[in-house]
Amino acid sequence: MLHTRHVQENPSLYLFLPIFYTVWSDAVLTPSEIKAIQDIINSQGWLSESDKEFLYSQLNPALPPSADQLKSWLEEIRKVGLSPDKKEGLAEIGIRLASLHTNGEAKENLQRAAKSLSQIEETLGVISREAAFAFLPVSRNTPTETQSTQYTFNVDKLARILDGPNEAINKKVKIIISDPEFKRIETDNLSEYREKVLQWAKHLAHQGFGAMAYPKAYGGQADMASYFSVMETLSYHDLSLVIKFGVQFGLFGMSVYFLGTEKHHKKYLKDIGTLELPGCFAMTETGHGSNVRGIETTATYDHVKKSFVINTPNEKARKEFIGNAGVHGQMGTVFAKVIVNGQDYGVGAFLVSLRDKSGKTLPGVTIKDCGRKMGLNGVDNGVIYFDNITIPKENMLDRYASVNDDGKFESPISSDNKRFFTMLGTLVGGRIGIPRSGLSAAKTGLTIAIRYGDQRRQFGPEGGAEVPILNYRTHQRRLMPLLANAYAFHFSLQYLTNRFLSRTEEDMQEIEALAAGLKSLSTWNTTKTLQECRECCGGKGYLSENRIDDLKNDTEIYTTFEGDNTVLLQLVAKSRLTEFKQEFSNMNVFGILNYVASQAKTSISEKNPFAVRKTDDEHLLDPEFQINAFEYRERTILTSAAKRLKSYIDDGMDSFEAFNQCQDHLVKVGFAHIERILLEKFIEQVKGTTDSGCKTILKKLCDLFALSQIEKNKGWYLENGYMEGVKTKAIRKLVDRLCSEVRQEAVPLTEAFNIPASCLAPII
Ligand SMILES: Cc1cc2nc3c(=O)[nH]c(=O)nc-3n(C[C@H](O)[C@H](O)[C@H](O)COP(=O)(O)OP(=O)(O)OC[C@H]3O[C@@H](n4cnc5c(N)ncnc54)[C@H](O)[C@@H]3O)c2cc1C
Repeated sequence: MLHTRHVQENPSLYLFLPIFYTVWSDAVLTPSEIKAIQDIINSQGWLSESDKEFLYSQLNPALPPSADQLKSWLEEIRKVGLSPDKKEGLAEIGIRLASLHTNGEAKENLQRAAKSLSQIEETLGVISREAAFAFLPVSRNTPTETQSTQYTFNVDKLARILDGPNEAINKKVKIIISDPEFKRIETDNLSEYREKVLQWAKHLAHQGFGAMAYPKAYGGQADMASYFSVMETLSYHDLSLVIKFGVQFGLFGMSVYFLGTEKHHKKYLKDIGTLELPGCFAMTETGHGSNVRGIETTATYDHVKKSFVINTPNEKARKEFIGNAGVHGQMGTVFAKVIVNGQDYGVGAFLVSLRDKSGKTLPGVTIKDCGRKMGLNGVDNGVIYFDNITIPKENMLDRYASVNDDGKFESPISSDNKRFFTMLGTLVGGRIGIPRSGLSAAKTGLTIAIRYGDQRRQFGPEGGAEVPILNYRTHQRRLMPLLANAYAFHFSLQYLTNRFLSRTEEDMQEIEALAAGLKSLSTWNTTKTLQECRECCGGKGYLSENRIDDLKNDTEIYTTFEGDNTVLLQLVAKSRLTEFKQEFSNMNVFGILNYVASQAKTSISEKNPFAVRKTDDEHLLDPEFQINAFEYRERTILTSAAKRLKSYIDDGMDSFEAFNQCQDHLVKVGFAHIERILLEKFIEQVKGTTDSGCKTILKKLCDLFALSQIEKNKGWYLENGYMEGVKTKAIRKLVDRLCSEVRQEAVPLTEAFNIPASCLAPII
């Protein structure tokens, strides 16, 4: 077009160049575009018929401009001196371009043409400003292009805050797992992988990590805090190792320690801690997983032989999924119904030998391998059957139940039910170790996805450079709230651990509920985080070498073992409902309603017309507003669940049925309660942080956690009139802003996790 006779003779035709460039640059000139431009050309009275013919000829779909022609058109257009700050449309740019080549009467023609061309963008379906942007030669320094990693806080200081008093032990574990001996292996061979994991576990035992929590008299350090830290830090490495370690030293060892008495400690703990005696924790049966009280394996006392007979009465009573049983376990803590003198005293625990030292299964014991699993394939899970095998009476773990010299059952806790729950309560440590392990896996996934997102570039403005994918709003929206969650869970799991370590008898019920709830939300959060991290890394996230594969598959079962999450959350709700116990027994519906009203008092002031519409930053970022919103939700859901249950029961419904009718409601009680704890502990952490750089970034993460949770639950807040639409909209915008701010510090925030390089991925 440029160097044709027509344009030389009538330079006003330059006016059409930006339009032609725009329609041809997307390659396909559609019939409607041709028609629209032809109409415009046709309506220009100042054009001669031959000019019009010439312009029509430029719209022939069969004769598109060549790539070089398009490039030269663009060069010509850019001569007008475009600016990203000017909101110019195609017509305006065309007029300025034509003006460079014309004067006098021709210029006047252009002014007249301007009017009829003003709708051109609309006709072509092009956004005016966007059309002009397409001509800009260089990037325009938009936030999406310029966002980059910033270091506003001291990473080492934040890492130290996360480590707390466990810095030394964490460091030691990191050194061990970075050792060449711990190089992860890539194999499809189950035996090879399981042997490797056993070998690693032995190395750890040799370093004293296995016995860490046991008393000094049995080769330990009596240091439970460090034991949890070892589990957490090992979880950056291979999760089969973590579970093998947890089964041997945690489930097996701790069951001997907590359910047994001195004679058991003396005889077994040392060998368990050194892995001389590999063992299992055999509770689950094929027929009974979540409902352990329903197990059918029997332990029948024979007073003549002073022994118990352990038996699997039917196929459903076989022990299933038992870690360490498939190949290595030589002994197991076996849970069975205690039968003494023909009486069933509920569930008890017994030490039962499974294999001899050479690994040969003992007579009366049949073990099958569970085979390949979705993950954790370095752990040998097995199915166990007992065919009336005899074990000595001393093998009963007798801290809570025993058989006396007269052959009578004895227990300090007379109720079978209460005894059972007390026994389980002592094993709550597993529900602390598992979420802490899962959180480490989530942190690893986030570290990989965030650092990859900071480096990986895709797309960008027309003519500009490609931008890091972490600068895209969706990427920030997908990863930043999960990064905030990781910090939130870290501080709450730390709190749970501390509560457990300093527990008293009175605290136990609360700690058990806290562990059940945090285990559930935290492991679900791990599953969600790793899925998002996988997708955020695109195809690279799918390659096994980049680790998310293993992390995702291995932590999948964390939502089920150590208690199925959905079942556990109902326990949390039931524990919360004990607040209402008094009212349940003596109060009628009227009484409950009064109680609910008194509970709701504070919320009335929060729900005034002014507060529900308040949208300023100062208010939304105020921890008091945030925690009030969480507490209000927790209280309201709890009281309404209580009310609902009460009314079902008052109507004569069986309590099992009433609870079942309210199950979804109860799960929400569990969520709301744990979410409130998560926020409360995060706010406390921010308050207690003295270093100003760390405090600022933690406050930002805490705000992001609080507001993204409120955003997630906004339907509920709107439904309950606690917020109006203006407020939830303002929260949404603030979450956008916080995501974008946290993005800049996301890389250093993952650096503070301090994950050994050997546990990360080649893509970063
Ligand atoms: C890899 C692996 C390792 C394991 N290691 C061990 C081990 O070493 N030792 C050991 O003893 N056990 C072990 N287990 C067993 C594990 O603890 C159980 O799988 C778990 O307790 C769940 O039991 P279940 O599989 O029978 O599921 P179920 O209890 O049958 O649950 C199935 C589904 O029903 C739902 N459900 C069940 N009850 C309710 C209810 N009341 N209300 C609403 N929903 C309900 C659950 O939410 C779940 O979705 C392991 C399991 C696996 C897979």
